[in-house]
Amino acid sequence: MNKVIPYGRQNISAADIQAVTETLQSDFLTQGPKIAEFENNFSNYIGSKYAVAVSNGTAALHLCALALGVKQGQKVITTPITFAASANCVRYCDGEVVFADIDPDTYLLDLVSVRKLLEASPKGTYSGIIPVDFAGRAVDMEAFRLLATEYGLWIIEDSCHAPGGFFKDTNNVIQNCGNGQFADLAIFSFHPVKHIACGEGGMITTNDEELYKKLLVLRTHGITREAEMLENSISFAAADESATKYPNWYMEMQELGFNYRLTDFQAALGISQLKRADDGLVRRRIIAEKYAAEFKGKAFVKGQSGLVEGHAYHLYVLEVEDRLGLYNYLRENKIFAQIHYIPCHLMPYYKKFGWKEGDMPNAETYYKRCISLPMFPTLTDADHEFVMAKINAYYHG
Ligand SMILES: *Cc1c(COP(=O)(O)O)cnc(C)c1O
Repeated sequence: MNKVIPYGRQNISAADIQAVTETLQSDFLTQGPKIAEFENNFSNYIGSKYAVAVSNGTAALHLCALALGVKQGQKVITTPITFAASANCVRYCDGEVVFADIDPDTYLLDLVSVRKLLEASPKGTYSGIIPVDFAGRAVDMEAFRLLATEYGLWIIEDSCHAPGGFFKDTNNVIQNCGNGQFADLAIFSFHPVKHIACGEGGMITTNDEELYKKLLVLRTHGITREAEMLENSISFAAADESATKYPNWYMEMQELGFNYRLTDFQAALGISQLKRADDGLVRRRIIAEKYAAEFKGKAFVKGQSGLVEGHAYHLYVLEVEDRLGLYNYLRENKIFAQIHYIPCHLMPYYKKFGWKEGDMPNAETYYKRCISLPMFPTLTDADHEFVMAKINAYYHG
């Protein structure tokens, strides 16, 4: 019997292990030099001005929502075909999640559906949009920016699936996912199943200095030590009328923040993994190309969109007939395909807000047929062939 083939998995090299070990033996386990180094390398890779490392992708989303001031009564639009965290960050801040349907060809939040929502309400009804670079396919963020500007909205780009993904803008310029050109903030996750693994970890990227500074404070309890940001007087801080500068120990908690820090040894792992990110991307695109060629024109494939330029191929999704049968058959053969995603609006938690079946027809049709096939850089050619052979065998006997 063959070994288990998962849909995704991490790739830890000897260099990764050495990087972590060295950091464990250093003076800093957390809040040391590896964090800034990782942030710097990551923002260079993505092409953003700033990057803020945090404990996971969900924390990144939460901090973004806080930094943008989401609060009770505010409505934020997102896609139902995403991991729940993309929507939950709005709820953490007591805002209201409004789902808009996906484009059935790209599986991404549909701009036309979003526009319809915006047009149906007075301006000011909505505060922001959270598009997701689902599966690794880049959202046309330029188009979303135009719409957002028209309606005075902010954008958080959930790029968890798409480090290294890009689209070409109307001037034919390559725009990396999360590069901060169009979205106010973008977020990434370093969960082991994502492209870059830290165990747990996340990153926020932005080109906005003000938001960047807010995020730094919110990441660590709302505490700041920067002299120019301090609010209390020097004489209060020093408890001495004659003091002329803030004492070295002085810090202020100015807002209600969190402890969402990444550790230094996780950052060391991230730095090491990031060096191989492009190699991983090349492998993912090769795997996608083979799948696309294999399944092109097959009768059991529904709505397969083929190869896409700039796609980061976090997932390789196929829409098929008899999806349940295929899924179970693959499992019997120790191929653990996955379903991404059960539509968020139909989760019992969101149904409590009135969402119901039929609200998002494209997302619901997609959910009935989608299956994510094994897709990770260390998938061997033999295992890849085995997966494709089993899929063909299921439909053709
Ligand atoms: C993984 C993921 C998240 C959450 O990241 P964590 O690091 O697991 O908290 C959010 N959005 C999307 C689209 C994801 O895939």
